[in-house]
Amino acid sequence: MLRGLPLALILLAPALGLADETSATDKLRILYSTRFSFTDDGLPLVTVEIMSGRPVVHLRARGGITVRPDGAGGAAIENDGGDAWTVTVEDGRPAVLQDWTVVETLAPDDASGVTAALARWKARGFEPRSFEIGTVFGTGGEVIDTRELRIAIEPVAAGKGAARAAELGRRFGVATSVQEELVRRPAGTIVARSGATTIRNPQVLWFQPRKPGEALAVADVPTGTGGSQRVAGTEDRRYWGAVYITLDHDGTLVAANAVAEDKLLAGLVPAEMYPDAPAAALEAQAIAARTELLQKIGRRNLTDPFLLCSTQQCQVYAGAGKEDPRTTRAVDATRGMVLLRDGGGLVDVRYSASCGGHTEDNDAIWGGDPDPSLRGQSDARGDPRRGASGGMSRISDANLDAFLGGGDDAWCNQGKLGQAKFRWTEQISLADLTARVATEYPEVGRIRQLVAKRRGVSGRIGLLAIEGDKATVEVSGDLHIRRLLGGLRSTLFEVHRQGDAFVFRGAGYGHGVGMCQMGAIGMASAGKPYAQILAHYYRGSHLHRLY
Ligand SMILES: [Zn+2]
Repeated sequence: MLRGLPLALILLAPALGLADETSATDKLRILYSTRFSFTDDGLPLVTVEIMSGRPVVHLRARGGITVRPDGAGGAAIENDGGDAWTVTVEDGRPAVLQDWTVVETLAPDDASGVTAALARWKARGFEPRSFEIGTVFGTGGEVIDTRELRIAIEPVAAGKGAARAAELGRRFGVATSVQEELVRRPAGTIVARSGATTIRNPQVLWFQPRKPGEALAVADVPTGTGGSQRVAGTEDRRYWGAVYITLDHDGTLVAANAVAEDKLLAGLVPAEMYPDAPAAALEAQAIAARTELLQKIGRRNLTDPFLLCSTQQCQVYAGAGKEDPRTTRAVDATRGMVLLRDGGGLVDVRYSASCGGHTEDNDAIWGGDPDPSLRGQSDARGDPRRGASGGMSRISDANLDAFLGGGDDAWCNQGKLGQAKFRWTEQISLADLTARVATEYPEVGRIRQLVAKRRGVSGRIGLLAIEGDKATVEVSGDLHIRRLLGGLRSTLFEVHRQGDAFVFRGAGYGHGVGMCQMGAIGMASAGKPYAQILAHYYRGSHLHRLY
């Protein structure tokens, strides 16, 4: 149990406003930890990035703001400040980071395997180190352990890790990845001002509305995908729980939200499924989102002072005020419920808008090991051995035409919205397609034809040959292929030349792995409960109430 963490906070005996370096460091350890604590209601308290790389952050709450140097539960600093606060940094100094190359991954309890791996890489002339990622927590009689041990070698300056990992991978014939290490945390003084009031604290300050039931507003939060990705604009966003402001890698400011799991999910689920979907579909989505959330803790953002980033890669979280009573009800109705693998551990939950009548294998889309819970299968109603599309256990060039022409009995062929995602055609002129491909592969020239060299079990293209009048290139990666061709809804398509254009005839929307969201809506509309929906899309799994 991680109830030890808040206890550690209390033992630090907070010194008001004058926290010394040592206690500030210990408080920060919690921000950088891969563990999370629990609220008084027994729900996980999750820290989510709001925004990063800021010279200044503006906060506002009706009725004033409580400021704490030591986080929730810690002592508050008496203040005469008003509703609006401005937070800046003094003497901000950047972190020191380095990139390691991960050369082996082992189970957390494989002590002899780790010893052997370290010896193996030492013998090759390296000074290997092991990193533990993921988290472990026990609750409701079940221990959830998402940890893995990574053996890493050859640290290099931050940003140079990808090239080194590729080189080492080639040299030793192993799959490699980059492990970022925070060698030294960023340093600086956080300064909060409101009217004539100024509060200074090393490294971090926590803020919470003084009035219960109020949400804290943060100004100028980037919308769109956030982070370094394309930013559509900014807006003021409101947050439940506490907001803390600490230092980014470069010594500027990060704002993050410490929020209870139910409030976080209530903000996330409406962005993932239309709130007017039937209740059972929203409940299935809420359980999928909760499982995904817990699965991600401690596996990403390892050098950041929060557990989850708010961008697309993590989970879309826009704070308070985005809730819908229908999705909030689904979150509450499934409190603590997650999907576990029959063999133990959380299901690596994936979902997409529409599978198009057949779901896809995880390894066909992202590579890696086949996941028994993420096997592609027919999304036909009833007995998959009967019916036109229902009988198709593998979609290939041989039966693709029949598949695209059929599939009336699929769960996701449902309603107006579902049908638009289920089957689609797109026409792209030869000139447009040539220009799009040229942005990445200028050597190809005028496009002659596109040939699927490899298809996954759902018919999604894993390897596409693009033949031009000057050269042919082979392109892989589901998202890569879709983006290169101008944002296709899926790689489950056949394409032929028609005069001066290419006509794409396709099925589905998204990668097709795991739960088909339109299919979940179809099943719920037919009266299926969430347990049956999840059992259909995630084989070899069962539901478990964690808290
Ligand atoms: Zn489907």
